[in-house]
Amino acid sequence: MPLASGGPLPLHGVSRDDVLARLDAFKANDVRWRDGRAFTLAYSAGDDVLAVAEAAYSRFASENALNTDAFPSLRRIQSEVVAAVGGWLQAGDEGAGFMTTGGTESILLTVKAARERGRKEKGISSPNVVLPTSAHAAFEKGCYYFGLESRRIPVLDDWRADVAAMAAATDDNTVLVVGSAPQYPQGVIDPIAEVAAIAAGRDINCHVDACMGGVTLAYLARLGHAIPPWNFAVPGVTSMSVDLHKFGYTAKGASVIMYRNKYLRDFQIYMTDNWLGGLYGSSGILGTKGGGAMAAAWAVMHHLGDDGYLRLTGAARKACEQLAAVIDETPELQLRAQPATTLLSFGASDPNSLDIFSLADALWRRGWYLDRQGPPPSLHCTVNAIHEGKIDEFAADLRSALDELADLNSTTPRSAGAQGAYGTVE
Ligand SMILES: *Cc1c(COP(=O)(O)O)cnc(C)c1O
Repeated sequence: MPLASGGPLPLHGVSRDDVLARLDAFKANDVRWRDGRAFTLAYSAGDDVLAVAEAAYSRFASENALNTDAFPSLRRIQSEVVAAVGGWLQAGDEGAGFMTTGGTESILLTVKAARERGRKEKGISSPNVVLPTSAHAAFEKGCYYFGLESRRIPVLDDWRADVAAMAAATDDNTVLVVGSAPQYPQGVIDPIAEVAAIAAGRDINCHVDACMGGVTLAYLARLGHAIPPWNFAVPGVTSMSVDLHKFGYTAKGASVIMYRNKYLRDFQIYMTDNWLGGLYGSSGILGTKGGGAMAAAWAVMHHLGDDGYLRLTGAARKACEQLAAVIDETPELQLRAQPATTLLSFGASDPNSLDIFSLADALWRRGWYLDRQGPPPSLHCTVNAIHEGKIDEFAADLRSALDELADLNSTTPRSAGAQGAYGTVE
């Protein structure tokens, strides 16, 4: 039966120009991240770099990384991207990794690999993971997906991992301990050497989540910032994650999971021949895997080069320091911590007189998008190179938003702003 016209699919095909124009129109109400209006979710090193990413992406959008025998191009792309990231992480000659589709996939695989290692080496059947409350939600997701117990340990007053409490929470069924460089919520770096020492003492895995910091910390160190130990130079660190679609400034869908050696990496791989379709092996969660994001990562990394990342890291850091100073100088607001890299969060100095989520609403009315988080109720900014030169404009709108809320408060009872969410389900 022919489909009725007016259904979800047009009865007759629509021209290329028309479909593209309609897609462009869909974006009308999206946050203007290309103009530096988003302090989360999207990153830009400028239109030139975006164009490189998009051109490379489109060339490989339909290529399939499921089988690199058929696409040696993608094998080469993966190996060159992983090698470059290994350099940032000081992974050494033994380091071995894969490209994944994002931080979440990298972390899911880390959890799965730790479970497999615990089962194989120690026969652990009820594995647990010991991690600070600040570690990313993806670890929770991994524990849930793969049947591990998540042991969340409250952070200290400075938001960093409480290593003594973590050590006390580990037992013979612990297969993984986690630290972040930096952790997402407050942007501070966990004491990685101490966290890794727990793992080394028990001969179990230690993952350092550098989804945000992997690129930035490598270059901040080169720019002369004092950076605490955070990568494979620390004994006991067994794996790390770095998101290229964040501070690598590549297209969405690119992250790297890196292991200290191939032995540890092998626990990530899945193989079966228990079906009628022959031997099936895959390095990650996906089966069919588009080559677009991989090619875009390779292209942007080569287009920017080492000096490009050095410059962009400097720009992002400078903008972050400016923003931190603005928050510090605003009496109504309180920084949660001085930013260790390019992430910061802040709350109300007096939560009884300022609802921080109402401030986020007022900023969004002015075109600025910030993440909302808690506990405690806070706003979160991921500052990247696109924010260079944008902080003064933000500061003016921040002042006007706070004044608007104060005026409203004096005339009507205070209403709470929308709590929002880091991620949504529709
Ligand atoms: C973004 C992020 C993740 C998750 O990465 P996705 O690419 O969103 O899946 C994990 N850890 C940290 C610290 C992050 O900032």
